[in-house]
Amino acid sequence: MIRVAVAGAAGRMGRETVKAILGAPDLKLVAAIGNRQGIGRDVGELAGVGPTGVILTADLKRALEESNAQVCVDFTTPQAGVTNARLILEQGVRPVLGTSGFSPADLANLDRLARELGLGGVVAANFALGAILMMQFAAQAARVFPDVEIVETHHKRKLDAPSGTARRTAELIAQARTESGNWAAAAAAMSTHESAGPTAPETEVPLAGQAARGLLCAGVPVHSLRVPGVVARQEVVFGSAGQTLRIIHESTDRTSFMPGVLFAIRKSLELYGLVSLEELLAAALRS
Ligand code: NAP
Repeated sequence: MIRVAVAGAAGRMGRETVKAILGAPDLKLVAAIGNRQGIGRDVGELAGVGPTGVILTADLKRALEESNAQVCVDFTTPQAGVTNARLILEQGVRPVLGTSGFSPADLANLDRLARELGLGGVVAANFALGAILMMQFAAQAARVFPDVEIVETHHKRKLDAPSGTARRTAELIAQARTESGNWAAAAAAMSTHESAGPTAPETEVPLAGQAARGLLCAGVPVHSLRVPGVVARQEVVFGSAGQTLRIIHESTDRTSFMPGVLFAIRKSLELYGLVSLEELLAAALRS
């Protein structure tokens, strides 16, 4: 049995993760960490599946020490995520990081720390398999279509904007743009329209003087919508003379993320350094 702790266990993703772990025969829920809501309550009751004997606590360090957890899943807030991830590693526990807001520099530092400590972990901007494919297809298409914008839609209570998935998609598009290859040459040959050409600035900036045109992330305009009735949806829109290509992924329920979370928990025990779920899935598909 893999001993698993969940940070952010009283939140929307945390409660779904608690249920998924309780339903997995090879995983044992040993600790649940929260912030304010639900502290002192049984986490199974918070998740709506009845008592489990695991009580929500606010002290991550102590919870990891006392529970002897091997893996800790983090679904908290962009403010708490980096501090939690460091603390998890410093306790000798393997992190599975689903929280949004890690910058590439944060991830590089956490990877370095994990390697120094001889530990592995997983990070995923999005645990849904379909979302990972959507990001990969978008990166492929970006080699042919220079003009692209991202529209992401989430529920109203999402704290950050743009979403971690949109940021990651923009990074992958930027990477694909800088890679040379046959596709890039084909794109140049096929291009029949005027384009400002791809750019990949490090910083995120509003498009000059045109706030309604979105935030430029790694050179890609991103538009964020926050409306009730949606869990998570992203549309990547490519345009070229006389055609558009739209790649859409939608999570209609948080269960969509759970196979990826469970896969990451199991895989984290074999890893050295912080590995993205995309890399893990690509390796699994190759083997
Ligand atoms: P949520 O419902 O607001 O839950 C966040 C939970 O974290 C809250 O219960 C909050 O408790 C708790 N928390 C805050 N600071 C904490 C700390 N220092 N230690 C432990 N718990 C802490 O948000 P959500 O919808 O579950 O999303 C959580 C994160 O996952 C967000 O960053 C979101 O963008 C991300 N996300 C990722 C994926 C993915 O596939 N990777 C999918 C969906 C969402 P209080 O309310 O008491 O402060």
